[in-house]
Amino acid sequence: MSALSVQTLSKTYANGFTALTGVDLEVEAGDFFALLGPNGAGKSTLIGIVTSLVRKSSGRVQIFGHDLDDEPEAARASIGVVPQEFNFNLFLPVIEVVLNQAGYFGVPRQEARSRAELLLRKLDLWERRHTEMRLLSGGMKRRLMIARALIHRPRLVILDEPTAGVDIEIRHAMWGFMREINAEGTTIILTTHYLEEAESLCRHLAIIDQGRIQARSDIATLLGEL
Ligand code: ADP
Ligand code: ADP
Repeated sequence: MSALSVQTLSKTYANGFTALTGVDLEVEAGDFFALLGPNGAGKSTLIGIVTSLVRKSSGRVQIFGHDLDDEPEAARASIGVVPQEFNFNLFLPVIEVVLNQAGYFGVPRQEARSRAELLLRKLDLWERRHTEMRLLSGGMKRRLMIARALIHRPRLVILDEPTAGVDIEIRHAMWGFMREINAEGTTIILTTHYLEEAESLCRHLAIIDQGRIQARSDIATLLGEL
């Protein structure tokens, strides 16, 4: 079963710039997958399309068999996203950021409350649940975005440059947490421009540059070739 299937996906922005050209990508259910590429390669554009934030120009995207065009709600409900930027909800208390997202996905209130508590405790944010998001440190904001992404029990979690600009301690804590979610059966896709991050976490990776997939490999093979 594919968690994500992308076929001949292309994107040309309104200004005429083509950010993706004929991208094909398959990620199996249960995989821990890295999309590795330099700044400007098209990683965020690809993630934006898969998560319905950016309109594709052509091609097909399916999430656990749900086509983004035909079954957009089922496709969206299967994904949790940890965005790269989080400049929204800044004046909401931590707990409300998570409960709002639960509401968006129609998680029953009681279930949302207990799951929010579980996640916030696990991510060491429960003590801060009444603190407005804007008052959190960078590392705390990132952990909050993880709790928010997991509240509706998505089968696929996508993290866009999850550890960019965070110090090594937070990075290692986040790596541990991602490994744990993956071990519980959740498929994980992350974008990164650190080979080291892909190497230490992921089973498979694709290399993207200038809007095209340049290579796709398992980590062991790639490292053998370097
Ligand atoms: P779409 O094709 O999805 O409608 P647009 O081309 O209209 O997207 O652009 C969406 C937004 O991104 C606009 O506000 C635009 O100003 C902004 N934008 C334009 N060029 C760039 C760029 N090179 N990098 C990032 N954002 C950009
Ligand atoms: P990455 O995430 O790998 O850094 P992006 O997907 O953000 O790459 O960007 C790929 C290319 O598309 C870049 O050249 C960027 O400037 C351009 N781009 C991104 N958003 C827009 C936009 N809204 N309008 C025009 N160009 C954009």
